[in-house]
Amino acid sequence: MMMETSTPEIIITNSGETILETHPETIPRKRKDSTNSPLTKHIKHGSVPHCEYFLHRCLQIMEDKGKTRDSKKLTDLWQRLSALRRHLSCLRCDELCYFDKAVTHPYLFTGNQEILFCENCFDIICKAKTLEHGSEEAREAFELKKKKTPDSEISKNNTLTQLDSDDVALISHCFDKLEHEFTDIPNLKDICGDYLTTCRAIIQLDKYFFPWNDREIVTTQDFKEISWPFLKESVDMAHEADAEDPDSEYIYRILEESMICVNMAHGLNVEGSVTGGSEKGGSEKGSFATSGNTDKLSNLMLDDRK
Ligand SMILES: [Zn+2]
Repeated sequence: MMMETSTPEIIITNSGETILETHPETIPRKRKDSTNSPLTKHIKHGSVPHCEYFLHRCLQIMEDKGKTRDSKKLTDLWQRLSALRRHLSCLRCDELCYFDKAVTHPYLFTGNQEILFCENCFDIICKAKTLEHGSEEAREAFELKKKKTPDSEISKNNTLTQLDSDDVALISHCFDKLEHEFTDIPNLKDICGDYLTTCRAIIQLDKYFFPWNDREIVTTQDFKEISWPFLKESVDMAHEADAEDPDSEYIYRILEESMICVNMAHGLNVEGSVTGGSEKGGSEKGSFATSGNTDKLSNLMLDDRK
């Protein structure tokens, strides 16, 4: 899978690789090794790109807390999952940067890894520079849907907040003077693929993380009947304890979005997509990396919510 191109010493890379592993029997062993490595315990916020950090945290929580059927144990997951999604989406349109190329300026990326633009929005903003200052079109070009949140995981701001003024100034400067220096974001697509795989594991209550689940979740109906009630209970608990944690409507929306992306990737046969390894896979139950369910999965989440 694509994850092999990521920095190998980062534990999350190993986890991501293992998730997408097509030989289910090797998963627990490799996973265990990863968990026991001292690196897992020492990974710190800020030492790796933020999206990798949050991916790691999500997988760690699922692995540690998913073992028993106790929705309360999973309450830590939702804030990290929404943070992860935010770090993978365009600052202007808030779309997941999975299908489109995303760019950022090195100045913006070192200081703040949430500031990235999909290619389309990047073009719109660049064009807007030539427009009359203060014109409706120029104003609209700079309207941001995803607003920056503070970097600290401790700060609970999962809801949208304003960019701070330093960032606004820096963004303007980069677009005004340094447009030609905007560049791709390394591994973003891979991490995004891992995010989608993680969402799928949550939706399907994948047996690796949730060994107590003995039911197969392959259709939207299954999701609504089997996994969502369990997940929603957990999201509601977290949201009730802290109003700034994402609510169940939001979590439902991003899970739904992830499945639409997975299905599109499957349909488009995107290279390195989350279903990329499935052709070779067996139909081992409970392993979301294997192929048994992919046909049925393409129906998953495509129905309307009601
Ligand atoms: Zn965009």
